[in-house]
Amino acid sequence: MQATRPPLLEVRNLETWYGPVAAMSGINIVVSNARIVAVLGANGAGKSTLLNTVAGVIDPFKGQVLFKQQEIQGHDADAISRLGLKLVPEGRQVFPFLSVVDNLSMGAYARSDKDAVAKDLDRIYQWFPRLKEREHQHAGLLSGGEQQMLAIGRAVMGQPKLLMLDEPSLGLSPLLTKEIFVIVQRIRDETGAAILVVEQNAAVALSHADDGYIMELGRVVAADTCVALAQKTDVRDAYLGLSQTHGLSGTAKRWSQRKTWR
Ligand code: ATP
Repeated sequence: MQATRPPLLEVRNLETWYGPVAAMSGINIVVSNARIVAVLGANGAGKSTLLNTVAGVIDPFKGQVLFKQQEIQGHDADAISRLGLKLVPEGRQVFPFLSVVDNLSMGAYARSDKDAVAKDLDRIYQWFPRLKEREHQHAGLLSGGEQQMLAIGRAVMGQPKLLMLDEPSLGLSPLLTKEIFVIVQRIRDETGAAILVVEQNAAVALSHADDGYIMELGRVVAADTCVALAQKTDVRDAYLGLSQTHGLSGTAKRWSQRKTWR
């Protein structure tokens, strides 16, 4: 019998606090190689806290984060990034006064394989032709969507095994959001990277990701393949804002309070 491969990322019973407030607890998440895993939930559900804790930006209070079977909880963010776990934080943090190409090159700063770096740059320009058109412009002059593409491209230049995206659709049109998710699928297919993506646009996330977790008030309340989640009536009604029923529950109300820019 063939042995099952261990997952790329395994989060076990993770708990993170901000001062006296528990932002999330009892979190168990699995991300396998070359899978897109969506984390869905309303504002304040703990999604960003989860990504930031996995990436080493925040230390957990308890629990384990296993990346490639190695415990990394509480490690330095830079050391975690060097293992191949790259976070694109919310709000597209590009270097505004550097050109597009210099921003992308920054993502490959630790690499010495110059030919492969050039190939990766070409590939990113194929995914995002608008970045190629603007390669010598300051990143700060790009539109919101283009900056999001640049932030993703820069992370890919670092050859992630696991790419974590925190709300890539924030402030983007539905059309551009779909465009970003189609590229996320290409990143999975063409690089073999796994992607853990936090998203408030449930419909787009469920139709492009493989597996999904739904968070509510700091806990995981549902986990399944995206196909299965999208078919569950209770999940659609309470958490995804996709139902046909009238009147919103407290959960659905929280969900409907969409965030734009902070
Ligand atoms: P959003 O979509 O609004 O970013 P989220 O699901 O990502 O929501 P988090 O940002 O992880 O949620 O927040 C989880 C909880 O932790 C919320 O109650 C939030 O108010 C709280 N929180 C987040 N950041 C901090 C902080 N720096 N200090 C104190 N509390 C925080």
